[in-house]
Amino acid sequence: HVELMDISKSYDKQTNVLDEINLSINKGEFFVLVGPSGCGKSTLLRMVAGLEEITGGVLKLNDEVANHLPPKNRNLSMVFQNYALYPHLTVEQNILFGLDVKRVNKKEQKRRLMETAEMIGLSELLKRKPKELSGGQRQRVALARSVVSEAPLCLMDEPLSNLDAKLRAHMRVEIRRLQRKLGLTMIYVTHDQVEAMTMGDRIMVLNDGKVQQVGKPITLYNEPANTFVASFIGSPK
Ligand code: ATP
Ligand code: MG
Repeated sequence: HVELMDISKSYDKQTNVLDEINLSINKGEFFVLVGPSGCGKSTLLRMVAGLEEITGGVLKLNDEVANHLPPKNRNLSMVFQNYALYPHLTVEQNILFGLDVKRVNKKEQKRRLMETAEMIGLSELLKRKPKELSGGQRQRVALARSVVSEAPLCLMDEPLSNLDAKLRAHMRVEIRRLQRKLGLTMIYVTHDQVEAMTMGDRIMVLNDGKVQQVGKPITLYNEPANTFVASFIGSPK
């Protein structure tokens, strides 16, 4: 359970890039965050992950105030917009890095690695280094690293933006299937309307650091709160 209460963020103490965001995300929910470039999506995710200081408001994780909880104690995984892979490690080592840190035993690591690599289509690439991969392949490694952690809360920042249309369609289905199977709570950032509409249990539309609307895809489509939401979602109204 993730709760944002009057969450604000300013990098320079003058302008708010996020302005009094109120939001409650249920356990097991697939929650999608959409909005144009620069509206504050990554900033919001990074605050939930503990990688960015919260300058106003309260963040609660499982009913506990988490504003100053260290990232490693938040029990979440994150797929970064720029993948953040270790260049000197192989694909396999990159995927398993977090499990080594958490001292998951080798047999369990192997099981999760094989299952995940198979599902995400990385089985042939495990011994390569990131620089020997295409952009889309790197993105899949980042995805795999998050999946093997089996953390109950998963944050994904545009995880499919670099994949071709066919693989993207495949991964949309895979991510949803996996999220359901593991009962993950997901906060998923995208600027792709189709992704938002087809994957989200609920969608939040952000613009310029402010919430425009939160609701089910069908509600946003049929009853957009304003013209910004309507044009962003592609609604006829
Ligand atoms: P995109 O879709 O392009 O990834 P975004 O919605 O993720 O955009 P953010 O990265 O959250 O947007 O940025 C929101 C605003 O905060 C932007 O105006 C950006 O320039 C600013 N910003 C982000 N990071 C910093 C930083 N470290 N210092 C100062 N300003 C920042
Ligand atoms: Mg971003």
